[in-house]
Amino acid sequence: MRRETRIAIIGAGLGGVTAAALLQREGFRARVYEQARSFERIGAGIHVSANVMKVLRHMDADHRLSQIGIHPDAFTSRKWDTGEVLFDLPLGNIGGQKYGASYITVHRYDLHAAILEKIQPGTIEFGRRLTNVEFDGSVVHLRFGDGSVVDADVVIGADGVNSKVREAVVGPSASRFTGAVAHRAIYPSKLLGGMKVRNCTKWWGPSSHILIYYIERSREEIYLVTSAKGDWHSQASWEFCSREEVASAFEGFHAEVRKVIVTAPELTKWPILDIESICKWSKGRLVLLGDACHAMMPYMASGAAMSIEDAAVLARCLLQSDDYTSAFASIKRAACRASLRCIGSPPKTPSYALRLTLPGSLAMTQ
Ligand SMILES: Cc1cc2nc3c(=O)[nH]c(=O)nc-3n(C[C@H](O)[C@H](O)[C@H](O)COP(=O)(O)OP(=O)(O)OC[C@H]3O[C@@H](n4cnc5c(N)ncnc54)[C@H](O)[C@@H]3O)c2cc1C
Repeated sequence: MRRETRIAIIGAGLGGVTAAALLQREGFRARVYEQARSFERIGAGIHVSANVMKVLRHMDADHRLSQIGIHPDAFTSRKWDTGEVLFDLPLGNIGGQKYGASYITVHRYDLHAAILEKIQPGTIEFGRRLTNVEFDGSVVHLRFGDGSVVDADVVIGADGVNSKVREAVVGPSASRFTGAVAHRAIYPSKLLGGMKVRNCTKWWGPSSHILIYYIERSREEIYLVTSAKGDWHSQASWEFCSREEVASAFEGFHAEVRKVIVTAPELTKWPILDIESICKWSKGRLVLLGDACHAMMPYMASGAAMSIEDAAVLARCLLQSDDYTSAFASIKRAACRASLRCIGSPPKTPSYALRLTLPGSLAMTQ
């Protein structure tokens, strides 16, 4: 595709910034429009799997992150009350040997920052909330909440589970609350008074679970994230919640879990949202990626990884195609093949399956 093509990316989450970095690296004109006024170090850890590390390697961002993050020896599953080890998924060197890159856990902010470093300064326009998408022949007019209008030739909707671009692609499709919430906390591990926990453990309860892991090689900070039944009536994307509320949701769990919960100085609560399955990921000059087209449950620990991989596949398709129409057609063909392999369930289809079907001069997923 012509490098002069004006590419507007809506959303500066992990998928949006990855798309910007990879496209700019290939000489494309990519700009990002983000509704938030700035980025904050909101408490969240994240699993970075081998497919993401390969994308990061392609943009020379893997080394620093690999040094900050922790390389867990195993992902352990334990029974909620007795602590019995149900399964140990070996990690350690296995990622490198089998998939050509490590599996690490890091602070989400550090992952975001590592990708942001690869974007040209001034690329992101903050405080720009997309409110409307209008088509006018060969141009797309993007209207923002502050009254401004931007013209673009191609628009990438990386605006998450409540995507406005998705509306323009498939019509009204609001996200829905799944009836489950995620509690989260990050705090200094020294507050645990010497209690050591394994690098990465998921505790499986009858109707809830909690994942506890370190997010830095130094093991100075510990992270907990849960999935439990709950209510959600707020318009906000998250809110603070009391320690008592979380302790009560995990009553009867093993003493180690309860200690990690009651030690947390501050806990937040997030609604777990989903979207109706959509099979159409592009329309005309618009294309979607990440949660905007296939929102993932957080307990899959892959939503961000999929957004990043989508961005890599999209960048590759745009690079290799004569125009956006054939690029989006390649994505559609690959997505269809991938969905067939996944028992006809396109929206939950792991996008990493796409890499198997696309030849690549961008060799990050070889
Ligand atoms: C509790 C929890 C734990 C998780 N843990 C993991 C994990 O360990 N590993 C993993 O891979 N994934 C995890 N996920 C999933 C992951 O966070 C998401 O799948 C991922 O962030 C999606 O990335 P994205 O770039 O598609 O969208 P987002 O990260 O949601 O980014 C969308 C961006 O678009 C902006 N935006 C939205 N609307 C507009 C608009 N109208 N105009 C302009 N900007 C807009 C938003 O402000 C945001 O910056 C977890 C999720 C949750 C809730």
